[in-house]
Amino acid sequence: MFIGVPKETKTHEYRVGLTPASVRELIMRGHQVMVQKRAGFEIDLSDNKYEAVGAEIVETAEEIFARAELIVKVKELQKSELAMLRAGQVLFAYLHLAPDPAQAKELIDSDCVAIAYETVTGAQGGLPLLVPMSEVAGRMSIQAGANALEMNQGGRGVLLAGVPGVPAARVVIIGGGVVGTNAARMAMGMEAHVTVLDQSLHRLQELDLQFGSKLNTVFATMDALEEYVPTADLVIGAVLTPGAAAPKLVNREMIGGMRRGSVLVDVAIDQGGCFATSQPTTLADPIYTVDGVVHYCVSNMPGAVARTATFALNNVTLPFVLALADKGYKKALLDDVHLRNGLNVCRGQLTHAAVAHDLGLPY
Ligand code: NAD
Repeated sequence: MFIGVPKETKTHEYRVGLTPASVRELIMRGHQVMVQKRAGFEIDLSDNKYEAVGAEIVETAEEIFARAELIVKVKELQKSELAMLRAGQVLFAYLHLAPDPAQAKELIDSDCVAIAYETVTGAQGGLPLLVPMSEVAGRMSIQAGANALEMNQGGRGVLLAGVPGVPAARVVIIGGGVVGTNAARMAMGMEAHVTVLDQSLHRLQELDLQFGSKLNTVFATMDALEEYVPTADLVIGAVLTPGAAAPKLVNREMIGGMRRGSVLVDVAIDQGGCFATSQPTTLADPIYTVDGVVHYCVSNMPGAVARTATFALNNVTLPFVLALADKGYKKALLDDVHLRNGLNVCRGQLTHAAVAHDLGLPY
């Protein structure tokens, strides 16, 4: 099969759909891969590295869209790219169509086959192609929070680990799922005093088994939030209600009760955020202050570590890319219900019930 990897065009998006190692796997199976010039340049995946494993480097995205049967990307197509899609072409990328009727219409009109990373399901449940980005964001949240606690960022001037004779910082993590668990690991590794609050007792039991007495687990009630949030140095928002906006768990009063220079990192900001005062920010200008409390609310945190994020993403997407290339999209989708759950648009039709429902379109 002819597979194409265009350079991402979204502002500040440096991830790339396939790494040279993934390209090599495809080429070893007899497929042909085209990569747009400088697609991975910013993350040290040079054209030479792609050429060394047998990829063809092409100048323009037009060439890729004109020739490839399967397009592998990271982010949803931008307007100029949507115009290049061809009938029957297979697209595999994060699409996030539910809040984007314009993109959905263009995909339907193009007669393409669009498979969305974010709705591919896993044999153990969950959404496996979202997991690596949650792992990245969870780990980064502690790094971002530690940085925001420094004086020059408006923080309290507190070191997470403390030093002998000076207590460690108090880190409170709301939501103990993928983001929360990874945040907890980092915070414990930095020797902070860490508490995870979750409304799932089962999840707290798993965390307790995994980390033992190093981690303080607390069942999430309003009382618990009122007790733990105001005294924290750093609070990480990591809750998720699948398919819905994040619940606003931390209200203005709790934030008003926090000490000057304390830090809130709202990882759940991509679902609206779980702190009353959260507003989405960008990697270029990530923090702002409300009532003396520093807020970090970047909605695309993995973008800051695009190289790590690219490799993490390829680890989970490659098996599906190989199946699509080896079997063709029809057989690959028929053989695997989890990949099939990723199908959002097929030859002029919306094919995902929840996406169609959110868009208010027929399915
Ligand atoms: P997850 O489903 O693995 O974990 C969510 C956890 O929140 C679960 O353990 C659940 O029990 C808990 N929870 C739900 N409602 C709660 C409540 N009211 N009180 C306490 N706990 C509650 O989800 P995840 O993969 O960890 O993702 C968390 C959030 O991070 C999501 O909104 C996700 O979209 C977001 N995210 C953001 C970025 C970014 O760049 N900002 C990157 C990746 C993920």
